[in-house]
Amino acid sequence: MKDCLFCKIANGEVESETVYTDELVCAFNDINPQTPVHILIVPRKHIEGVNALTEEDKEIIGHIFLVARKLSEEKSISESGFRILVNSGSNAGQVVEHLHFHLLGGTRLKPI
Ligand code: 5GP
Ligand code: ZN
Repeated sequence: MKDCLFCKIANGEVESETVYTDELVCAFNDINPQTPVHILIVPRKHIEGVNALTEEDKEIIGHIFLVARKLSEEKSISESGFRILVNSGSNAGQVVEHLHFHLLGGTRLKPI
């Protein structure tokens, strides 16, 4: 997708602090972290958001959770606790229209 920020980050056109990458996903530090650990995990495939998911994306979504688990261990937040969050649409505050999972931790999070 030509003008998509997260496609550009995933393919290296836009710089980011990458923390993990493989053939399906890319993970990088959020530019405006809300918590000590704030990582965005995005599929390399351009998927606009939860509303655009299809059956063929099942593997990617499962994989993203396993990457989140791995990163939570690497960042030493797996035991203290963390949150995985996806915003969908304007009421939820989705700004970037490329599916992304926020991995938040390193402090006590407000209950939702
Ligand atoms: P949303 O509100 O769409 O769920 O989250 C978008 C996230 O992307 C925000 O937390 C925002 O700080 C982050 N973000 C926006 N632009 C950039 C950027 O250029 N680089 C990085 N690393 N994060 C970004
Ligand atoms: Zn994209």
